[in-house]
Amino acid sequence: MIQQYLVLDTTAFYAGVPYTNTTENLVTTPDVISEVSNERTRTLIALSKINVLQGTPANLKAVRVAAQKTGDNAMTKADLSVLALCLNLKEEGNEAILLSDDFAVENVASTLGIKARPLMTNGIQTASEWVFFCPACGKKYPKQRADCLVCGTKLEKRLKKN
Ligand SMILES: [Zn+2]
Repeated sequence: MIQQYLVLDTTAFYAGVPYTNTTENLVTTPDVISEVSNERTRTLIALSKINVLQGTPANLKAVRVAAQKTGDNAMTKADLSVLALCLNLKEEGNEAILLSDDFAVENVASTLGIKARPLMTNGIQTASEWVFFCPACGKKYPKQRADCLVCGTKLEKRLKKN
């Protein structure tokens, strides 16, 4: 029987996926856990049934090669590790769906044939809202995009303060 896994990257944790009230198979990697430094998120991880798994070195290498080809060189160790885990799950005959709001991660996922689902548009009730901003010139954007329209710098995001 094919098992479906939802693979959480760092952005998935910050977006507030309802980890505790789900019957889905949630998985992530040790690198994502260590990148998520937020106390509340750590508590959620502890309360949830998230399995922490690691992809093989061979799959990690395949992900690195793919990221170089697409020019997504700024990916973190955690980003690379979740993609490698997706490849592992697929190799084992499972269905892996990556939950991510990171453009670079989604981009590399698509070249590797990994299904990715953005968090903010899939109907999951997110706990927080993001603000996208340019770290160079300070321009704010209401929606996610890759680069600043003014100066071309890669946008960053932070949680909107309520
Ligand atoms: Zn700018």
